[in-house]
Amino acid sequence: DLCLGIESSCDDTAAAVVASDRRILSSVIYDQALLHAAYGGVVPEIAARAHAERVDLCVAEALRQAGVGLAGLDLIAVTAGPGLIGGVLAGVMCAKGLSAATGVPLLGVNHLAGHALTPRLTDGIDYPYLLLLVSGGHCQFLAVRGPQDFRRLGGTIDDAPGEAFDKTARLLGLGYPGGPEVERAAAGGDPARFAFPRPLLDRPGCDLSFSGLKTAVRRAVDKLVAAQGGVTRQDRADLCAGFQAATADVLAEKTRRALAAFGTAAPVLAVAGGVAANRTIAGALRAVAAAAGARFVTPPLALCTDNAAMIAWAGIEQAAAGETSDMGLAARPRWPLDAGAAPQLGSGR
Ligand code: ATP
Ligand code: FE
Repeated sequence: DLCLGIESSCDDTAAAVVASDRRILSSVIYDQALLHAAYGGVVPEIAARAHAERVDLCVAEALRQAGVGLAGLDLIAVTAGPGLIGGVLAGVMCAKGLSAATGVPLLGVNHLAGHALTPRLTDGIDYPYLLLLVSGGHCQFLAVRGPQDFRRLGGTIDDAPGEAFDKTARLLGLGYPGGPEVERAAAGGDPARFAFPRPLLDRPGCDLSFSGLKTAVRRAVDKLVAAQGGVTRQDRADLCAGFQAATADVLAEKTRRALAAFGTAAPVLAVAGGVAANRTIAGALRAVAAAAGARFVTPPLALCTDNAAMIAWAGIEQAAAGETSDMGLAARPRWPLDAGAAPQLGSGR
């Protein structure tokens, strides 16, 4: 069976065709980085307009690259939330139009379910597995037991790590997105020079916090500026290395605890989201998995960050489990993963 996936919840307009035997026939992404770069972050108004303008083109290109027509599809899966509502609406409207015109069944998918099920698409792993989703907007541990069965074991109580990387980069005058820039700058730095905090390590459980760490970097910068009038290249390297080491330490320790809480005989730790690209962090997580006797899986970066192949795949799995949507499918800015199936208009969910 073939599924067309559509994704437009943040700053990437994406469409993909995926087969139920895990083949990705096409995965097209129009990223909007250039439109938002001048603002140092995503501007919802600009994003919504760009999605509305490009989503049809993106779908056409995905079908062309896959070599299938609309009539050859068995399912249309679309991100119905969570995300920026204007963008989500653009995708949902497009999917509804295509479904109404062709009679191909429609299914609304949770964007986070897309991220969470990606390791099954890329690595074919079995349920259950422990997922750490660590991205620009999210940071959470999920026990994944089925295509619609996610149990949250813990997560950030404030910022996401990717956001902290981006803000640290902005503070130090590095480019956007900040993660790769901070990693590059940290390469020549001393991670021990600045004693940055390891938030929440003293408390039990798997919750994390990153806003205090972000503030600690700002205070260190303020102190340097007051003492010497600015930040040298070496200071910047040390600040980045220290921040990165603190983030890696916190993620590693909480992952160790989450694996213990997950407690399966043959555990699998899957890590998804853009921050998984960081080599210091990925290395620390890999070591934690090895120490716990767990298999470590991390999808290729192109499928870790936002894309539509993951939405098509989640659609395939959830449709096979009996989920369906109709023209009442609603776009939803907030949609916790453990809240179940896609909401319908007027259902009050
Ligand atoms: P979400 O999926 O939660 O809505 P998002 O789509 O913005 O958020 P992703 O696309 O998964 O998140 O990841 C982007 C984030 O990953 C950015 O915050 C970016 O700075 C961060 N990132 C990318 N590469 C690295 C790296 N090498 N080190 C640290 N962070 C990184
Ligand atoms: Fe995402």
